[in-house]
Amino acid sequence: MNQQTLILIKPDGLKKSLTGNILTRLSETKLEIVAAKMVRVPRELAVEHYKHMKDKPFFEELVQYIQGTLHDRKKVMAMVYWGEDAITKVRQIAGSTNPEEADPTTIRGSYGRITTKGLYENVLHTSSNESEAEREIKLWFQPDDIIVDLYPTKVVTMEKAKRKIWA
Ligand code: ADP
Repeated sequence: MNQQTLILIKPDGLKKSLTGNILTRLSETKLEIVAAKMVRVPRELAVEHYKHMKDKPFFEELVQYIQGTLHDRKKVMAMVYWGEDAITKVRQIAGSTNPEEADPTTIRGSYGRITTKGLYENVLHTSSNESEAEREIKLWFQPDDIIVDLYPTKVVTMEKAKRKIWA
């Protein structure tokens, strides 16, 4: 069954210059990249993305981590991968959440670490199931950012909306 999944290369992955390595490992899945962009993560987006973790003692650090405050790299690379069993294939190659427990052949097992404060720095985020993938893709991307139709859309006219264009 074809699926879509959100992948974020987190600020530690960017700081360690792992983008190329991570994309190469992900290419083993033979999935298609249908959207990609660099994002400067506002606090509201970070909080919304990790809302299922809001009762965890490390929630505030998690928000700062994905915003890049902890790594002096205030950006993430966000992508949507699409194809057969995309969610499972990507999670398998990403490895377990805890980078010390992750199989060393996985991305997190190869490149992740646990900080002295106990936060798991595991270099990438991947959606955990279809409903989370839908929630996350709609949170990080607009329909026009994605080159295939993944979810139903509607057309609205926004007369007073302002947007920046090239001068
Ligand atoms: P995943 O990213 O594998 O889907 P979760 O959604 O459970 O895992 O956790 C979100 C992120 O929170 C993890 O990727 C990791 O950065 C951090 N995290 C999760 N569990 C812990 C933990 N027990 N201690 C420290 N950080 C954690």
